[in-house]
Amino acid sequence: MKSTVYFAPVKDADDIGAVNGQLKKLLEKSRILDVIREKDKVGMKMHFGEAGNINFVRPAHVRVICDEVKRKGASITLADVNTLYRGRRLNAADHQALAREHGFTKKAVGLDVFIPDDKKEADIAAVQINQKHIQTAKVARLFIDADAIVSIGHFKGHGLTGFGGAIKNIGMGCATREGKLAQHCDAAPVFNTDRCTGCGECEIVCPAEAITMENEKAVLDRSKCIGCASCVAACPNMTIFIDTEAGDAVQEKMAEYAYAVLNDKKGKACFLNFALRINQECDCWPYKNPRIGPDVGIFASLDPVGIDKASFDLVNQASGEDIFKKAHPKEDGLKQLRHAQDIGLGTMEYDLISV
Ligand code: SF4
Ligand code: SF4
Repeated sequence: MKSTVYFAPVKDADDIGAVNGQLKKLLEKSRILDVIREKDKVGMKMHFGEAGNINFVRPAHVRVICDEVKRKGASITLADVNTLYRGRRLNAADHQALAREHGFTKKAVGLDVFIPDDKKEADIAAVQINQKHIQTAKVARLFIDADAIVSIGHFKGHGLTGFGGAIKNIGMGCATREGKLAQHCDAAPVFNTDRCTGCGECEIVCPAEAITMENEKAVLDRSKCIGCASCVAACPNMTIFIDTEAGDAVQEKMAEYAYAVLNDKKGKACFLNFALRINQECDCWPYKNPRIGPDVGIFASLDPVGIDKASFDLVNQASGEDIFKKAHPKEDGLKQLRHAQDIGLGTMEYDLISV
């Protein structure tokens, strides 16, 4: 059976009032928030943006969603999970402070942001899933304990997975540091030494201090690499690439991690993708992150696979080309969706309803 994906077009992401108008219309017509009942504990997952990244979903839009959920008499934990790499989102206190700097204050969204602490056992859940790659997934407990999940995804490009939407927001986004490492661990980059000019850009951006320069060539210490692909995007000479098979494994593991969070939430999870300010790299990327496509709109569905496929299709349609392939020629982002479909998370076939 096909999934149903609702779509509200947006012309200009910077017209916050107009975007909110479309968002309200989308929530009303799609009724995706009907999965939430009175007194439900709702885990609301989003990305508050890395320092230097300005393309995250705006607090004003999150406010609209939170107000709707509260009207249902449910309680909300608005959260993201810490990163693997050095940066402002490496620990809970800094991550929370950055979210506030990006406008996610109690005044703006109506509640405080929560960041689970990777060092607290109580904040971590181990979920047995026995899938192809992952047997036990380590995820933030709040999403497992929640009665319902609301995913607020920013649809954008990604150096390792081609693009990121709902599957990435939940699969990679709800994983603890250990879980993120388990997903990235096969994806160490390969360097074409002949083409390396020794410019040092990769060494500068590497968050794990895994690259050093020797005789004006980049040298990788695999034991330190966390497979984040930052160096791939930073190299001006296209010298670094991720082994395609390893990239495939990351995508499949990410889908399996999404399964760990969503498997017992059938009929209790809903997804929004904002295809606005579509940047080339992950929102974790703190460096130059150009927009690669036009503002397209907001998607809503109960199917995380269908919503990502519809977002992918409509963004490329609006752009007149496959902008994700263009930005990341070696990655086929649809692999994450095929695996997600295979393990029962949803379907890539969808009916689109424009509101
Ligand atoms: S993928 Fe590149 S940037 Fe990321 S940790 Fe490994 S060497 Fe460093
Ligand atoms: S960024 Fe590329 S060219 Fe520059 S040192 Fe690293 S691998 Fe070599």
